Amino acid sequence: MLRIGLTGGIGSGKSTVSAIFEQLGAPVIDTDGIAREVVAPGEPALAEICRSLGSGLLCPDGSLDRAALRSRVFQDTSRRRRLEAITHPAIDARMRQRLAELPEETPYVLLVIPLLLEAGWQDRVDRILLVDCPETLQVQRVVARDGIDPQEAWRMVRSQASRDARRQAADDVIENDGSLGPRELIARVRGLDRRYRDAAG
Ligand code: ADP
Repeated sequence: MLRIGLTGGIGSGKSTVSAIFEQLGAPVIDTDGIAREVVAPGEPALAEICRSLGSGLLCPDGSLDRAALRSRVFQDTSRRRRLEAITHPAIDARMRQRLAELPEETPYVLLVIPLLLEAGWQDRVDRILLVDCPETLQVQRVVARDGIDPQEAWRMVRSQASRDARRQAADDVIENDGSLGPRELIARVRGLDRRYRDAAG
C-alpha cells in the first residue's frame, strides 16, 4: 500500500483537497483529527500533559483547555518540545493502528499530516503531496475561515516550515493559489489519484 503524505501550511487547502480524494474513494487518515482524539478526557496523553506542563490546563468539563495550552507553550521552545514528546508518539501509534486496519488490497492511502516536515515524519510516507499557495492567501483564508485577526494568522504561518522547505521536500505539488477553478482542482486531484493507483498497481 502506497502511503501518500498530504501536507501544507495552515489555510493552504489540505482539507479541501483531502475531501476530494475521499470523494474519489481514497482512504484518508487525518492526523489533525487524531491529534484531538489523543488528548480527549481519559486518554493517557492528556494526563501526561497535565503532569508535565502544570495545572490549569483543563476546562471545567475535564477537556483540554486549548487556549491555555497554546499560551503556555507559546514562545517557550522547551515546553513545546515536551508537549510534542507526549503527543507525537501517541498520534504516531494511532496512525499506525489505522493503517493496519485498512484492507490489504488498498492501493494507496492519504495521510494528512500538516506538520510532516516540522515533526520529521518524512519516513512515515512513500510520497509527499504538497498543497501550496502564497502566504498572503493562507492568511486571508484563515482569517475568513476562523475569524481570527490577521496578526495572529501571520504568527501561525510564520511558526510553520517555510514554503521553500516544503516545496523542496515535495514529490507532487497542488498549486492552490486560486489559479485553478473548482473543476480544475478536482481534475488535478483525479489525475493524482489515477497516478497513485497506477504506481501501487
Ligand atoms: P487547511 O486544511 O490547509 O488549513 P482548508 O482546506 O481548510 O485549509 O482551506 C482554508 C480555507 O480556504 C477554507 O475555508 C477553504 O474553503 C478555502 N479554500 C481552500 N482552497 C480554496 C480554493 N481553491 N478556492 C476557494 N477557497 C478555497
